[in-house]
Amino acid sequence: MDASITSPRLFIQTSLHEGATVAASAAQAHHLGTVLRREPGGAVRLFNGADGEWSAQIATLRRDRCELTIGARLRPQAPEPDLWLAFALLKRDATDLVAEKATELGASALLPVLTARTVAARVNLERLAAIATAAAEQCERLTVPWIAPPVALPALLADWPAGRVLVVAVERRGAPPVRPPAGPAGLLPAGLLVGPEGGFTGAELDLLRRHAFVVPAGLGPRILRAETAAIVGLTLMGASAGI
Ligand code: SAM
Repeated sequence: MDASITSPRLFIQTSLHEGATVAASAAQAHHLGTVLRREPGGAVRLFNGADGEWSAQIATLRRDRCELTIGARLRPQAPEPDLWLAFALLKRDATDLVAEKATELGASALLPVLTARTVAARVNLERLAAIATAAAEQCERLTVPWIAPPVALPALLADWPAGRVLVVAVERRGAPPVRPPAGPAGLLPAGLLVGPEGGFTGAELDLLRRHAFVVPAGLGPRILRAETAAIVGLTLMGASAGI
């Protein structure tokens, strides 16, 4: 198999073009040298969310520093699904899991939300960004999802963009199954909202129902943990839209 296909992928926040030399972050240098035991001359792949995917070679590698020389472009940048995941903030491990799995499942943005029954009040956005970046590197997507700072549910709804449907996962209410808003060209701009472990309150469900862009949807007869609901909801929305 062509080594460039299986070589480590790195997300680099700089423009990429053939012949350029770019620096990896200290964490990436550590990962390449200490964890993966790569050496100068080794192959890697680079992407930056805008210029596609490129082959590159390790030019220099020290404990926390690494320079990479860019070779040929392997893939052009391609359109990706415009699917946001809004989720009631969970405890740290569950939030980490949601960030990783949502990235693998193609979410383009992660929006932590504070609801009446949300148990966590804070989130480390740098940590979430690092988790999403590592997941994007591993799963071969060409972008890293954008991560928004947490907002209260009323603010999320007040600022929700025109033309974007919000599919809200609601248990026990007999809501129709999740169906992504798809047009002839695939998935339309959409979002999925998943509630906290304690579920949405009656007042929150009333507030949600007052917004024309909200579409309540069920995820089957069993009551799923919130992190499972996020994974299943994204899977169903992505799979039915063919992404
Ligand atoms: N405490 C709630 C109860 O017992 O009814 C369950 C909340 S559930 C653990 C957390 C979130 O996952 C819910 O707010 C909802 O968004 C989503 N969820 C879980 N199971 C679901 C289902 N079967 N259909 C739709 N959404 C579901």
